Amino acid sequence: MVAVTSADNQDSGQSRPVSASEPCLICAHTDWCFQVFDFKGDLSKIICGRAQPGDTPDDWECSGNAKDGRNIFVKKGYRRKRRKNRQYPELIRLAPSPQTNIPGWQNVVVPLEQLSKGHTVRLKPGNPGGEALYEVKKLELGKRSGANCLVAILSAKDSLGGTLEIAASEIQEIVTSDPDTGAREQFIEYYYSEELKVVRTQWSDRRLVYPGKKNKKVRPWHQVGDSWTEGKGKREFPLYRESDAKSAIRRGEMVFAVAGEQAADTLAGLGLAATTNQGGETGASQIALDLAPIFQEAAISSKAAPEVMFDAEQEPEVEPSEHNVLKPLLVIWGDNDPKGSDFANELHKLCLTHRIPHVILDPLLVWSGMPKKGDCKDWVDWCRSQSMSDEEILIRLELAIEAAIDSAEEDSQYRLQRNNWNAPTSWKGEIGKWIQSKEGNPYWQPCCN
Ligand SMILES: [Zn+2]
Repeated sequence: MVAVTSADNQDSGQSRPVSASEPCLICAHTDWCFQVFDFKGDLSKIICGRAQPGDTPDDWECSGNAKDGRNIFVKKGYRRKRRKNRQYPELIRLAPSPQTNIPGWQNVVVPLEQLSKGHTVRLKPGNPGGEALYEVKKLELGKRSGANCLVAILSAKDSLGGTLEIAASEIQEIVTSDPDTGAREQFIEYYYSEELKVVRTQWSDRRLVYPGKKNKKVRPWHQVGDSWTEGKGKREFPLYRESDAKSAIRRGEMVFAVAGEQAADTLAGLGLAATTNQGGETGASQIALDLAPIFQEAAISSKAAPEVMFDAEQEPEVEPSEHNVLKPLLVIWGDNDPKGSDFANELHKLCLTHRIPHVILDPLLVWSGMPKKGDCKDWVDWCRSQSMSDEEILIRLELAIEAAIDSAEEDSQYRLQRNNWNAPTSWKGEIGKWIQSKEGNPYWQPCCN
């Protein structure tokens, strides 16, 4: 890949709101409208919150609605680049559709039967201390009102101190939030199938309380009979959101391969098809291996589709190829760290072997402010913090994918070029050179016979 540094991308200004110095070209206001630039820096689109399709300057036309209802205007004569390449879609268009089964965080609740030393508890009404919280110091068998029972020895959590011995049955609940900060322990369940899931547990303030001084605990679970057991079990985990990914490929759309369920769900939240594998980035090969047959199916069904002739006068926004040729694409988006680039490279190699059309998204090309170890969730969170609409986020992503394909094409162009220079190079363990035949086809000539 062509390396893109954050400096290169600092002010590519792929999109920005209108401002006093850059008022909206459609409605002339200085706020609420949004300009989209292509990677050459040309203004290509305006999402205008005020103008109606009829009242545009002569060189602009309305091309549709953003999801939030604002009209989208394109410069007349401006067309996104159409690619003529077997491998890539002609136009990079994300096709969001509502995705279901996106899990949410739930509070960890510890049932009273699991009461033990160290728990923070609240007492039933009528007991001393009102709403005060106590920590369990000890549990022992004792007698209360003449009957044997479990007795809890508690100490008040507040600085006024004091201890209390009370029948455990007087405890109302085990409190799983931090009384000082309100931070909570939470979990989220990522279902891979009805019988297989991954559970991630963490404190809302990301405190380091899990084994190995980690700020989270991520574990696979499997169902045995009616109950869940921690561990992978004997069945193979499918990919996460596998059926979304496969349907998108069959429709000829883009699928994102990311590291981690949270990243996949973030993109699913935008209506995109995204997948990952259980067990972390080192198992990334599963993504290519499981999706390869579906990509091959799509390739075969495209070839089988009849060629349709299109009238030159036809409405230009209609993409002829989209109707009969499927060009699904795997967009590989690893985290912004060495593990993330290993993940991308591993997938890249397997995609080449299995002929999966793919492109690697450089995290810094998507967003120059991507933090170390950052992923698409960090980016989408940042976009939302800038009050970007989903529409705006998707346009940014389309442009980033387009740029990634450009750089992959330039890269392979460069390789071809280098081959044409007749420079000695090695191929399949042999030193020789690539020479261009009269017909323009490269052929290999070893240096020594
Ligand atoms: Zn405007």
